[in-house]
Amino acid sequence: MPYRVRENLFIGNIGDAADILQNGSTEITHILSVLSSVSISFFSEWRSGLVIPAKEIKKVYVGGSGGGDGGSGSENASGGDGGSKSSLSPEKLLYSLEYAGKDLKLVRMAVPLRDMESEDLLDYLDVCFDFIDKSRKEGSVLVHCFAGVSRSAAILTAYLMRTEHLSQEDALESLRHSCEFVCPNDGFLEQLKMFEQMGFKVDHASPVYKRFRLKVLGEFYNRGEKIDSSKFGADPGLPTEISSELEVASNEGNNRTPAYRCKKCRRVVALQENVVDHVPGEGETSFEWNKRKSGNPYYKSDETECSSIFVEPLRWMTAVEEGALEGKLCCAHCEGRLGSFNWSGIQCSCGSWITPAFQLHRSRVDISSV
Ligand SMILES: [Zn+2]
Ligand SMILES: [Zn+2]
Repeated sequence: MPYRVRENLFIGNIGDAADILQNGSTEITHILSVLSSVSISFFSEWRSGLVIPAKEIKKVYVGGSGGGDGGSGSENASGGDGGSKSSLSPEKLLYSLEYAGKDLKLVRMAVPLRDMESEDLLDYLDVCFDFIDKSRKEGSVLVHCFAGVSRSAAILTAYLMRTEHLSQEDALESLRHSCEFVCPNDGFLEQLKMFEQMGFKVDHASPVYKRFRLKVLGEFYNRGEKIDSSKFGADPGLPTEISSELEVASNEGNNRTPAYRCKKCRRVVALQENVVDHVPGEGETSFEWNKRKSGNPYYKSDETECSSIFVEPLRWMTAVEEGALEGKLCCAHCEGRLGSFNWSGIQCSCGSWITPAFQLHRSRVDISSV
């Protein structure tokens, strides 16, 4: 039986969902499935002989292409801040929406998420929240995964954090009052902590998210997946990609965008927004978010400026695409040496380890405004 979390909001496992889809429910009208596959056939694979009717409404991809017979044809799901800033690959399925179950009476949204620590939970939260909010207005929603322990609990913890402004710990504690054995995996817990640090939203511009995005990219690399430039940030040195937008922004406000230029040829190689900040002197072996606060609170290197600037991988860094573990970063215009990249990390002069690292030597670049 599903557990009631709040009014019109339930948590359960695949058995609970299957039962409702098969037999209908007097209470549940909507189902949010968080499983490794969005296909309704997942239920048949789970229990042979179980066939659940479904009729697609739409499928929405990260990059914004939608489809399906009942859908609007296309929909931009990436939000206003640019899909390329998400950690998810642009061609990845974000969710599917369908009528499902007995007499096709239920509305089911399915989100493809595996119960793995490295899985990107954050970038699915917004679409899940929208669905849960809408469903609770129209009826009642069951949020379920396979066991009802990790994935569904992580999404509901985030939902309670956002709607009730609770810390990660308090939200999880509150959820445990409804269902005592919920236990999101450690990777999800770290991401929920980031969600709290970002002010209960997924803010792609925040340093917290940028570090997360880099970590996800590092995991892509470690799994042997091809790193192509679609996962990189736009080249700030190319006029076509973003400079027109920047000009508008810098003309409107008087605060002009700080940019790093190659000292030799003056080509723009990074913008302030591409910089992935680190706390000077903090010896991170990798990005372990929840340990950050335990570092030295008196930034001992206030006097000594870091010798390196770490940035997200950018499209001019063609050497990175070749797949090597480490290499040089050279200016796309004059080919002068700017720094290095290393997927297993580079240590800054302040002592901090940045992993993975895309490093520009402060001595090789000038800061100015665009
Ligand atoms: Zn440093
Ligand atoms: Zn140059």
